[in-house]
Amino acid sequence: MSKSPYAQLKEEAWAANLEIPARNLAIYTWGNVSAFDPDKGVFAIKPSGVAYDELKVEDIVVLDLDGNKVEGSMRPSSDTPTHLELYRSFAMSGPSKGKIKGITHTHSPHATAWAQAGKCVPLFGTTHADHSANPVLCTELLNKEAVAADYELETGKLIVESFKNPPKKFLGLCGNLQERDGFKLVPHENPMVLVCGHGPFTWGESAHKSVYNAAVLEEVARMAFVTLQVNPNAAQLVDYIVDKHYQRKHGKNAYYGQN
Ligand SMILES: [Zn+2]
Repeated sequence: MSKSPYAQLKEEAWAANLEIPARNLAIYTWGNVSAFDPDKGVFAIKPSGVAYDELKVEDIVVLDLDGNKVEGSMRPSSDTPTHLELYRSFAMSGPSKGKIKGITHTHSPHATAWAQAGKCVPLFGTTHADHSANPVLCTELLNKEAVAADYELETGKLIVESFKNPPKKFLGLCGNLQERDGFKLVPHENPMVLVCGHGPFTWGESAHKSVYNAAVLEEVARMAFVTLQVNPNAAQLVDYIVDKHYQRKHGKNAYYGQN
């Protein structure tokens, strides 16, 4: 049998999915990761309802950006239309074109708690600022029509719309946002979101990096929760420290790490 042209992508998706239980980000099958190849225009995703300890590389499903299955015999994750919409709208055009190659969805408890509360996560400290220079956006609740029409696709559209026109509750926590190519919040620079009443979606320059950001978000959400327990009136971190931390890792003259 000739080797699949998607072998490497499937392997990447498989390994990244196994990181969900390894990092305690979800129990049972409450999470999924996909890996995207923008040149081939396909992504590899976990099959629906398969436990992580039974997941095999050959179970991974490959789809194109029209949602057609191009490889695999199993049904893809029920959240596939959300991943599809995010790749189409974030990774193929606009300010983050070519910079998003993996998406993770979990129900990790602290991030999900903020989503259930309908609250954006304020930027309280440098752990958060190392990964994003803004609070973590929580969307508005999906309306009844959207849920009835095509729930998972509409979830993706809600996230995209929220990055183009963030809700008031988010803008209230932010300074001035510089719009780029129609996005007030640039996706690859803000790789985390909470869907109101549901939970977190994160992305990154690889499937592995998207799970990393899911783990970071869980920790940041937990720390923010504790911060407000210690001091219900805690202020967000001042801009000059946020900028320093974000820029030393991600700016033009980044100097954090060994690269
Ligand atoms: Zn979910």
